[in-house]
Amino acid sequence: MKKLIKPAALSALAALTITSCGSGDSSSSLPDDSSAVAPATTTTTTTTAAVTTPAAETTTVTTTVTTAVSEADVSSLPEEDSSVPKTELTEELFKNVCEDVDVRIEDDRIIQTAVVNDIAYSLTIDLSKWEHNTSPEDMVQLSRLFWQSYPRMYERFGEIANAPYDVTLAIENEGYAVAEASGNFVHLHDMWLPGSPEDYDCITHELGHIVSDGSSWDSEYLEFNNYIELFAEICRYEYALDNGYFNDAVWTLQTTDTQNSRETSVRFLLWLDYNYSDFSNGIDLMYRFCDICFNSRFPAGEWNEAWQEIFRDTALEGLSVDEVWKKFADSDFARLSADAEKGGTSELAAHCDLRKKVKETET
Ligand SMILES: [Zn+2]
Repeated sequence: MKKLIKPAALSALAALTITSCGSGDSSSSLPDDSSAVAPATTTTTTTTAAVTTPAAETTTVTTTVTTAVSEADVSSLPEEDSSVPKTELTEELFKNVCEDVDVRIEDDRIIQTAVVNDIAYSLTIDLSKWEHNTSPEDMVQLSRLFWQSYPRMYERFGEIANAPYDVTLAIENEGYAVAEASGNFVHLHDMWLPGSPEDYDCITHELGHIVSDGSSWDSEYLEFNNYIELFAEICRYEYALDNGYFNDAVWTLQTTDTQNSRETSVRFLLWLDYNYSDFSNGIDLMYRFCDICFNSRFPAGEWNEAWQEIFRDTALEGLSVDEVWKKFADSDFARLSADAEKGGTSELAAHCDLRKKVKETET
């Protein structure tokens, strides 16, 4: 069995400047997949990442994280506590992340393959730029997340987007974003999970980009460019690891108080899906939304027609999208808290169990 052994010290640890944190606000001015300009690398002011939000809090958070390396700051970081036993990175550790998964560790890669519903998928965790800040236990959780969510997302959205079967997750102690996605490649900053424990579902969001091929969305055919981010956030909510066990404690699904238009509201789309998708009759409003966005079917100025197609054969047929928004804004769904203690059930999930509805449609 091949092993990667954790080194004795975090000698290459870089200072981390977090200008803002979390991933609950998809209206962030800097999408997580943008190519951020590298900041100056000499001066840093370390700011605490307040990612874990209390259940009742509705703090607006953003996805923007900026890192800057400063030799001067390294000395101020805590020394590694050598008394804490370290987990060795072994193939054995990953054997239960998915039923019948094959795991092998080669050099600096963990390669996992499995067949799910007759489709062969693979997840490669690339550790060539890992500096041992993200723990092996976190990698196991990220692997479980992939196998729980990606095949399900693929079966629903992957074919229309020509999504990949093989995904690489690179855990890298470089770059200026928490996480970003392009093609079949996901970057996760090596300092994100140590600073924001259990925010695994930032990767569910990135897998939402992978399954919808974020780079192919054409702004001339989107009512709002932000639909790219809204779609990834829909995936984050609906396909969160362990039914939202971690996600709902560290991430806030905003209400209409803060996301008050369909340009910014993740919740509006979730409400449509919960109330008007009728999977047993082949009516899937998020599939229709994704299909229209991804395949550039309506120019940006003709989205009234696009919405009519999305609403077709539902109780919303014939209503304008503004009328539909008003129905949403007047609903309990628009207001109920989606926050929970770790492992708990939010008010929203207790009243409207969208995750259960989506699961029940699957084979
Ligand atoms: Zn994103």
